[in-house]
Amino acid sequence: MEVTVLGRCGPFPAPGEACSGYLLKCGGKNIMLDFGSGVFSRLYGLLPQLEVDAVVLSHLHSDHMADMLIFRYALEQLSARSLCRQPPIPVIAPAEPREEYRLLSGSGVFDMTAIKDGAKLRYEGITFTFYRMTHPVESYAISVEYGGKRLLYTGDTGMRHDMVDIASGADMLLADVCYLNEELGTRPIAAHLSAAQAGNLAAAANVDMLLCSHLWGGRTDHSELMCQVRAAFPKAVLAEEFKSYPI
Ligand SMILES: [Zn+2]
Ligand SMILES: [Zn+2]
Repeated sequence: MEVTVLGRCGPFPAPGEACSGYLLKCGGKNIMLDFGSGVFSRLYGLLPQLEVDAVVLSHLHSDHMADMLIFRYALEQLSARSLCRQPPIPVIAPAEPREEYRLLSGSGVFDMTAIKDGAKLRYEGITFTFYRMTHPVESYAISVEYGGKRLLYTGDTGMRHDMVDIASGADMLLADVCYLNEELGTRPIAAHLSAAQAGNLAAAANVDMLLCSHLWGGRTDHSELMCQVRAAFPKAVLAEEFKSYPI
């Protein structure tokens, strides 16, 4: 497997960047994990015929799905001219919030499957497992297993007691590291992980690699954030746009 970072920001992009979107190459298949604002043009640059086999959305916040609406226009217009594959494209996403799900399902361009907590889905030899997380809307961590390797993508979530089990032994932990430690503050329920929480999670789960993403769009210097993550997990890596990471 290989993950290419097409966007790494949330909940809005830093100047010139894009929100969450990752192209996962897996056994000859191209799977998109999340599809936030700014991601479409980057994907189109890499795959001019939009050879996307499936899209998996961790949740339906705009920084993770906004460009699905643009992807839809492109699929409609390019497929009508035989310039890309014919829709529908399989899309796996939470069924809530209802309005966003309806926007995706109503077009006929996407073949929708609703995620359920604990569900396992097998597709072309790839196994996806979904775990409900803590976030203002229904949001899932996504485990992807293929060829004896495992990626665990946290999606957006505050820290939970069960995350160490879920991430345990993953070859790559792709994590929401939105907050500096001091920004976590005293919120009773946080929507994202702090640097220390992500680093501690990676260490406790004994993962091979921690890729830090969902970087707050209002910050352009991530050195302090990475310093805080590496205090707990020294080999943590900062997600870089357009860079590919083998798993
Ligand atoms: Zn987000
Ligand atoms: Zn979110």
